[in-house]
Order: sequence, then C-alpha cells, then structure tokens
Amino acid sequence: MEDVVFKRPKDRVTAKGSEVPKPAETFEDLAKRYDVASRLLANLRKYKYEYPTGVQAHGIPILLERRDLAAISPTGTGKTLSYLLPVMASLQAPIASLKAAGSGVRAIVLAPTRELAHQIHNECLKLAIGRKWRVVLFDKATANTLREKNVRDKVDIIIGTPLRLVSAIQQGNLELNNVRHLILDEADRLLDNEFLAQVQEVVAASTYPDVQKAVFSATLPAGVEKLAMGMLRNPIRIVVGLKDT
Ligand code: ADP
Ligand code: MG
Repeated sequence: MEDVVFKRPKDRVTAKGSEVPKPAETFEDLAKRYDVASRLLANLRKYKYEYPTGVQAHGIPILLERRDLAAISPTGTGKTLSYLLPVMASLQAPIASLKAAGSGVRAIVLAPTRELAHQIHNECLKLAIGRKWRVVLFDKATANTLREKNVRDKVDIIIGTPLRLVSAIQQGNLELNNVRHLILDEADRLLDNEFLAQVQEVVAASTYPDVQKAVFSATLPAGVEKLAMGMLRNPIRIVVGLKDT
C-alpha cells in the first residue's frame, strides 16, 4: 500500500494505495471515462474552468471508482468540487426524479464550521441547477423541517456541522443508514479533539454496507492522519503540492 504509483512533477501530486485510478487531465476526459449526467456536465461547463486542478484530476476518478480517499491539498486548490462532482455523479439523479420512494439521505458532507458548510452548500446548489436535487444545509431551521420523516426521506444531500447532525441523530430525527457517501471537509479540524467524538458518532451511524468515505484537508498532522486512515477502507491517499511526508 505504500508504493508510489503515480507522480506528476508538474503539479507535484503523489498518490499511494492499491490500483490507483488514472487521473483525468481534462474535464472532457472525465466525461468520456465515466457516466456523469449531462446536466451535471453542463453545470460544470458554466464555471468555465479550463482544466481540473491536481486534487480534482486525481480525486474525482478515485471517488467515481468508489474508492475511499484521503486528499491533502492546499487551501484554494478546488477541493470542494473534487468531492461534490463525483458524489452527485454517483448518486446519478435526485431522489425526486427516481421511481423509488426515497429512503433517506444518500450523502453527507461534514464541515467544522457553519460558514464553511454554507459555502459548500452554495457550490452544491450551483451544480444542482436544473434538476430537483434536495440539498440541505443542516441548521436549526432545516433540522426542524426534517423532523418530518417523509420530508427527510426525500433529501439527497445534507451538509452540516457534526454537533447539529449528532443531536438530530440522538433525538431520533435523522437516520444515516442510507448514506452512500460520507465526506469530511477540513478533516484536520473535524478529527481534532473538539469534534472527534461527534464525527465518530456520525461515522458509526452511517451503516450502509458500502458507504464511501473521504477526507479532505489542507494539512493532516500525523496523529489526525492515523485517525482518518483508520476510518477508511483500502484508501488511496493523495498529496498535492506539498512535500509528501
Ligand atoms: P479549497 O477547498 O481547496 O480551499 P475551493 O474548493 O474553495 O478550494 O476552491 C477555491 C477556488 O478555486 C474557488 O473560487 C473555486 O471556484 C475555484 N476553482 C475550483 N476548481 C477550479 C478549477 N478547476 N479551475 C479554476 N478554478 C477553480
Ligand atoms: Mg475547502
């Protein structure tokens, strides 16, 4: 698992793990290689990004191939899109347009602060334009609305802070047994003492058999990295732009 299987000097990206998927050098490459809904691609084009950043080029194929991932990439390198795009592509379609009745939220993004959760929510709404995605920023008001089981069963993606999610879980107002993708953004903070117990509770509540887990961070101190790796299954670890220590 410690073999360096890919190294791109240009972006200084290293990837470690077994059977690391080939990075996508362009968004067209992604569209060609993977089943990404055309609406999602159309929304992506609106950003007018020329090419994927390092964490996107490497991270998106890894997540689309349903692997667990630890991604370390500096602030401002586009980590948000590197998980939102593959999560939404993997979910295929909003629950509202699927025939199934909806049996609970299918993706969770955890963030250490309300502000960050809010930014992620905005990014997600941009990718969601034109389809009936139900993307919820889990705050006091929405937590209240979601106390109705038939309402929360139709939610696709929840973005929130650990404490808020844990209190809803404990009150029996949120089930995570249908969560297929669990993302930890700014994982260095989420796995620090302040949030660790709550994050572990969210992880424990995510009982879907093949739940995909991924952690993203600008830095991952050794102790925190060990915790992160312990949560992941046969993970791939990518490091962008920093010395891989
Ligand atoms: P991070 O979470 O790594 O700090 P963000 O996801 O917040 O980074 O993205 C930082 C900025 O880069 C945002 O303004 C975003 O719109 C922009 N960005 C993301 N991906 C690309 C890309 N492929 N090309 C150009 N800009 C991008
Ligand atoms: Mg970020």
